[in-house]
Amino acid sequence: MEKWKIDADLEDYKDFLKKPSLTDIIEILNDFPQNYRLEIVNRNFELFKKRLEILIENYIKPAMRKIVKLSPQEQVVYKALIISYYEPILKHFLNNLNRLALLQQVISNKKSKNYIFLKEKALSASIVDVAETLGLNPQKTGKVYKCLCPFHNDTDPSLVLFPETNTFFCFGCGIHGDVINLYKSITGKTFTEALEDLTCL
Ligand SMILES: [Zn+2]
Repeated sequence: MEKWKIDADLEDYKDFLKKPSLTDIIEILNDFPQNYRLEIVNRNFELFKKRLEILIENYIKPAMRKIVKLSPQEQVVYKALIISYYEPILKHFLNNLNRLALLQQVISNKKSKNYIFLKEKALSASIVDVAETLGLNPQKTGKVYKCLCPFHNDTDPSLVLFPETNTFFCFGCGIHGDVINLYKSITGKTFTEALEDLTCL
């Protein structure tokens, strides 16, 4: 399996993206001219989206396709290996995508302060607790939680929850996102309803 490398252009401020507070990131971005701020964030958002797509399409899906030919027992073992191998990089991409999406909204001033506050609060609702509430019965395996994916016909848990970044990814069907996406997809509720529910948890 070829090693996936991060050739991060975002190296300069990627540590700030990991921080829970958006104000820290904005402080950094304040050093850039106003019109350039949004450009930087948009560019990096597209970059991360593209990289995540490449990771899924060129690496994870082919790896998963390869193990289909193996015996069921071997499949379980190899799938666990694939998950643990790609877990750190997936977690990194998903987290940065979320942070950048939120930053886009803050910088472009398209959303009210209250909306951003609510969204950030909803995004911090524990994905493991939410999955539990939704009846997914997540099981802890190392640093992650695994459960049967409700979005495809799953027999060996493929849906992985990353508590560190509050994101999820399914190694079977590729569905991924944050805690709001997970909640919305399962309950079929609207974005606003999901925000309301998650901020009350
Ligand atoms: Zn799935």
